[in-house]
Amino acid sequence: MPDFPTEFARSMPKAELHVHLEGSIDPRTTLALAERHGVAPPADDEQGIREWLRFDGFPSFLERYFFVCGLLRDPDDFALVAEAYLLSAHAQGAVHVEFHVSSSHHIIERGADWTEILGGVVAGCERAESRVGISSLLIPDLSPHLGAAAAEQALDVVLENPHPRVVALGMGGPSDTWRTDDYGRVFDRARAGGLHTVSHAGEHGDAWEVIHALDEFGAERIQHGIGAMSDPDVVARLVDSGIACDVCPRSNVALAAVPDLDGHPLPQMLDAGMVVTLGSDDPPLFATSLLDEYANAWQMCKLSADDLVGLAGNSLSNSFASPEMIDRWLADLSDVSF
Ligand SMILES: [Zn+2]
Repeated sequence: MPDFPTEFARSMPKAELHVHLEGSIDPRTTLALAERHGVAPPADDEQGIREWLRFDGFPSFLERYFFVCGLLRDPDDFALVAEAYLLSAHAQGAVHVEFHVSSSHHIIERGADWTEILGGVVAGCERAESRVGISSLLIPDLSPHLGAAAAEQALDVVLENPHPRVVALGMGGPSDTWRTDDYGRVFDRARAGGLHTVSHAGEHGDAWEVIHALDEFGAERIQHGIGAMSDPDVVARLVDSGIACDVCPRSNVALAAVPDLDGHPLPQMLDAGMVVTLGSDDPPLFATSLLDEYANAWQMCKLSADDLVGLAGNSLSNSFASPEMIDRWLADLSDVSF
């Protein structure tokens, strides 16, 4: 197996469609936010934060996630983290990022002012765009543990504050309430309001979640989707429809959806002809990056350079960027030589 061609992979124009703004905060930015707000950081330096981030089990993951999330207080904080992540993605060759933003958490759980948060995130996106030209869009995510009424409320606020960068409504978190609460209506309203719809599904659960996300939420992309592999009919449906799964192998290992990278179904997904894009999900928490996920896929699936180009192309053509921008990026991708 040849070594992963890091510089070639970096040179490929690509998009990242599955990364959470609140989970993208690197150790340096975590320290800066803690200092800004006079909060004692969990460690004194970047290496210490990196070690602290190595969680042990889901409760410890959530504890770290919410500690870092709790440092996001002012619009400037949101601007800082959006810009920092976009600059890092650009350094890995990304030309476009679609941030999942936990709208339910901010609007419902924290009672925060969404217009201020949106203003901050957009300012960070604009700063990164003006510095390095990277494109970015936003996907407010719903948290199903709060129930459908809270989801309706969060959507109301999102729809009351339309912005050209807010392009889709997403669903994150566990599926416990999917069959008891009517989220279908929430997604119908989002579409009527001009948004695309996507959903996490088939991360820990099996293929039923993917069917539910397609049929009830009208998902145009699935985040993870590895659970689809439990049902050949669902695999066939995803292949026939060309609906992309935004797969994050390291996240699946870290959160024990699969035992290890060798036990991850990515090779079977590609062999089946499913449309896959690669993402990093919550990169500092999973000790990964977008480029690392390309390296993981290279190793796990015994990919060729052409296969890497295919994955990058999937990420571009399945983004919600304008057709003109997608065409331009795909043309740039076709010019990249191994
Ligand atoms: Zn995710």
